[in-house]
Amino acid sequence: MKIFDFIFKRKQRRRARVMAEPFPTEWRPWVVDAVPRFTHYKDSDRKTLVDAIKVFLAEKEFRILGDLPEIDHIKVTVAAGACQLLLGIPELDIFPRLREVIVYPHHFTETTEAIGPDGRPYQISQTRAGEAWLRGPVILAWDSVARSVASPGDGYNVVIHEFAHVLDMQNGAADGIPPLATKQDDEVWLKVFFEEFRMFVADQRAGRRTLLNPYGATAPAEFFAVASEHFFEHPERLQRHHPRVFDLMRRFYRPPPTR
Ligand SMILES: [Zn+2]
Repeated sequence: MKIFDFIFKRKQRRRARVMAEPFPTEWRPWVVDAVPRFTHYKDSDRKTLVDAIKVFLAEKEFRILGDLPEIDHIKVTVAAGACQLLLGIPELDIFPRLREVIVYPHHFTETTEAIGPDGRPYQISQTRAGEAWLRGPVILAWDSVARSVASPGDGYNVVIHEFAHVLDMQNGAADGIPPLATKQDDEVWLKVFFEEFRMFVADQRAGRRTLLNPYGATAPAEFFAVASEHFFEHPERLQRHHPRVFDLMRRFYRPPPTR
């Protein structure tokens, strides 16, 4: 047996054991809160999602900082919110490059240095609800996660946003190009996604109101993450306002039908 097969089989066996464990009944409402569409999925898709959550919880390290009680609630909410993105794309596995999730109690302010037009460095402070790093952890603020869960359908969801970045980075840098299924998908994406991004940036510069969060204009990776939030939070509105972006999201995520 080749070493790769051996490692792969061992991983499969370990996952089979994890998936065979019961899923605590008291966790189920947290899944429904994190994934409002959960109850509308077919039984087989619900089972797939619960299995993915079990594997996520078993394989990812959680570091929960500060004075946060209800550790299980936090973990299940994050795992469920993240794993819903994977339902239609099982071949991408369960965020294979991600090892660690760090959760802070509150959103945080991050200061970065930039160079001004006069050539002098200056500080920019930004409030952050989350971050995702290439070959690094996902960092989330629990207050922002809780706010996302409390208001489904508003197009804001920090868990979807950060895990969309993780998927984007699964094939390299955060560049707004996630790992697509076919060469044809790649071609369509390169053309349409970047056309839509440029139009979106032009909309923001012209001060036109858009359904998508203006933050999406800061980089293609942010446009993808913001579009992902809207796609899972209110696909109908995304389809109405940005039909081509909606088609791209459907092409990548291939979400299962709901009833
Ligand atoms: Zn982002």
